[in-house]
Amino acid sequence: MSNVHASEHPLVKHKLTRLRDKRTEPKKFRELVREMTGLLAYEATADLATTPRPIETPLAPYQGVELKEKIGLVPILRAGLGMVEGIWELMPSAEVWHIGLYRDEKTLKPVQYYNKLPVEPTVSVCLILDPMLATGGSAVATTDILKHWGVRKIKFVGLIGAPEGIAAMQKAHPDVPIYLAAIDDHLNEKGYILPGLGDAGDRQFGTG
Ligand code: URA
Repeated sequence: MSNVHASEHPLVKHKLTRLRDKRTEPKKFRELVREMTGLLAYEATADLATTPRPIETPLAPYQGVELKEKIGLVPILRAGLGMVEGIWELMPSAEVWHIGLYRDEKTLKPVQYYNKLPVEPTVSVCLILDPMLATGGSAVATTDILKHWGVRKIKFVGLIGAPEGIAAMQKAHPDVPIYLAAIDDHLNEKGYILPGLGDAGDRQFGTG
């Protein structure tokens, strides 16, 4: 699973435990999602290309760099929404493109209900954001959409992955690296990750 990165950072593990805890209220849950996403994005963007940018410090000229490529954040609605702020704090000029997919409760397959991508891609790197990589259906479908849009560099950033979802992504899109806080045991019969954290959308938005 060389393209799969489960963070070893103690801060990520600490925060993930708070996130999983059923006593954690939506306000704290949202804060943790935001903070953890920033930490994971830091790891996921370590190989972004830079281009030279000469500047002057108050004392001397300096050969600096700036990010070369335009970054797009693609939160999968609705649970991915809470992950955007954590990355925007690090990359305020990233564009955000929304993709709406829901899981059909019977088939567990993704159904697209929102996609307003313009014809030509406006970014060259996309980070797909979804806290839970469960069956992998939404991640695979979103990656299909982004590749079809013309984006060549795509990364998936999530909080918890199930082996089933990771395998589905790797089978369909082996070129897309996956960044997670943890890889859990398995999915239950309803498609929830165990031990997981429950429904990431409900827990953020207080709808559970
Ligand atoms: N989506 C969630 O919110 N939680 C899971 O465990 C699986 C999918």
